[in-house]
Amino acid sequence: MPVKKYILAIDQGTTSSRALLFNRKLEVVAMAQQEFPQYFPEPGFVLHNPHEIFSSVLQVIHNCISKASIEIDEIEGIGITNQRETTVVWKRNGDPVYPAIVWQSRQSATIIDRWTNDKGADFFREKTGLVPDAYFSSGKLAWILEHVPEAPRLAEQGELLFGTVDTWLVWKLSGGKSHLTDHGNASRTMLFDIHRLKWDASLCNLAGAHHDMLPVPVESIGELAVTDSDVCGFSLPILAMAGDQQAALFGQTCFGPGEAKVTYGTGCFLLANTGTQALQPQNGLLSTVAWTINGRTHYALEGSVFVAGSLIQWFRDALNFIVHSNDSEALASACDDNGGVVIVPAFTGLGAPYWDSEARGAILGLTRGTSKSQIMRAALESMALQTADILRLMELQIGHLSGTLRVDGGATQNEILMQFQADILQRKIDRPAQKESTVAGVAAMAALAANWYTGPEELAELYAVEKTFSPLKSDDWARATYQRWQRAVEACRLFR
Ligand code: ADP
Repeated sequence: MPVKKYILAIDQGTTSSRALLFNRKLEVVAMAQQEFPQYFPEPGFVLHNPHEIFSSVLQVIHNCISKASIEIDEIEGIGITNQRETTVVWKRNGDPVYPAIVWQSRQSATIIDRWTNDKGADFFREKTGLVPDAYFSSGKLAWILEHVPEAPRLAEQGELLFGTVDTWLVWKLSGGKSHLTDHGNASRTMLFDIHRLKWDASLCNLAGAHHDMLPVPVESIGELAVTDSDVCGFSLPILAMAGDQQAALFGQTCFGPGEAKVTYGTGCFLLANTGTQALQPQNGLLSTVAWTINGRTHYALEGSVFVAGSLIQWFRDALNFIVHSNDSEALASACDDNGGVVIVPAFTGLGAPYWDSEARGAILGLTRGTSKSQIMRAALESMALQTADILRLMELQIGHLSGTLRVDGGATQNEILMQFQADILQRKIDRPAQKESTVAGVAAMAALAANWYTGPEELAELYAVEKTFSPLKSDDWARATYQRWQRAVEACRLFR
């Protein structure tokens, strides 16, 4: 028997699929990536072709393995992380009845409005930890059942299967033998009772989800399924499944209550581990299952900033301040401070904790001497200030957050942003050496399933910090700067 040296991790994202091979030190030894088409048939609709998702995954698996020039039997097993909430409904013969409805798609918004008017938001929040929204899968499933003429009859006959992307991939990879989802992905469907870890009958009835359509909810790690050699060309166990944000929390080794990570991308995603307790979320935060491992479920509080890196893109593309997003650092470095400028990037309203959908963005504090550099600096600072807003909410709910915040995502390369974030939070920020928190997270889960490590503690020892940002400014400075931000938000909300 050849020694099992590798974990194959699949990262099925919103715009591309990737496969990465990790060695026993959880270092990346090979990677392959493929983009796939996005479909926008009507305003607000975002669709994928489930067959294209699956074929891109198969393709990257094969490309990655051939790049690494290794034998299949050197691979211990597979971990899968995926874009969350995106919904697929297919017939038992493998034909989807409609394209995959992507998490971003707003097509189920009127269904969600109807449900919220009828039932009230608490009906959903208490069981699922979610604030009813078109993001989540149940509205997308209901949309398919309402709009695809043959779907209700097929559902009645037990001919339809429902799943998020994890479920679809495992079903396809296993040759239709395994129809399952992990608790973390299930918690994003708005059909799942996160306290009882079961599908909720009343939520399923509302969406029209028959019991036999639903995948079996399983733990995040274990021998979850086996790939079919007729489909894949090899037979390997699937050892871990986790939605992308859950995998990133694990990859950042936020294993204990109060440990939090922030991903800085187009928007910012914040997750804080709340231990084995699901909190009743307030103020628009969400409560979600992080993972279930060896019978223990960990929960997380989740919040997001809508406009973060996309503000930098706006300065790049609409205002031509910079050519590349990472030029923002050099431009912002040309001044010592923001010169009094504050930007509130409420392009589409304000999210938590303000929840003001009518608010629009503003640049405040301009003088004749204001420079491009100061405006750029204020733009970067607004990413950190919005993150501070959400972390304060989380801290209020959890009671305490760990002293150090872990960060990942494209914009964490920006040192001005990272330093300002440490200053405003008066908290240390750890930027890890492993830049691939999400996919490394699910690889770590699979490695745990294969007993490569004794437990999370040993995984935590592998975590290497590339750079720590410590606060350099005083507590008084942080308080005054944050209050100024809050006044800017108020000013912007007065403008209608
Ligand atoms: P996503 O996964 O959301 O596409 P990435 O993690 O690739 O995002 O990050 C890309 C986003 O981060 C873009 O919105 C870009 O404008 C922003 N970004 C990238 N590099 C920097 C940087 N050095 N400084 C500030 N913002 C950046």
